[in-house]
Amino acid sequence: MAARDRYSRKLECSRCGNSGFAEVSEDDNPRRQNPGFLVDEMPAGFSDERKSNDPAKYMIRCRCGSVFPFKQKSHYAPGGEPRA
Ligand SMILES: [Zn+2]
Repeated sequence: MAARDRYSRKLECSRCGNSGFAEVSEDDNPRRQNPGFLVDEMPAGFSDERKSNDPAKYMIRCRCGSVFPFKQKSHYAPGGEPRA
């Protein structure tokens, strides 16, 4: 059993400015074909449009109707992400 990597990431809608932190998890195993990406907790105002185990294909819908991929429009919290 691979360990799960858990972290939170800020979602921000570019249309209405709604934002919040999603709690997500991925498999901590580099040999897997995909990271087994999952959103465990969606922030208020956002919902799943299309689930995917790839964060670049995981589509989020905002309460204003805007849809965007999890990876593309998300932003790290200020100072919250270590620079590798
Ligand atoms: Zn919005």
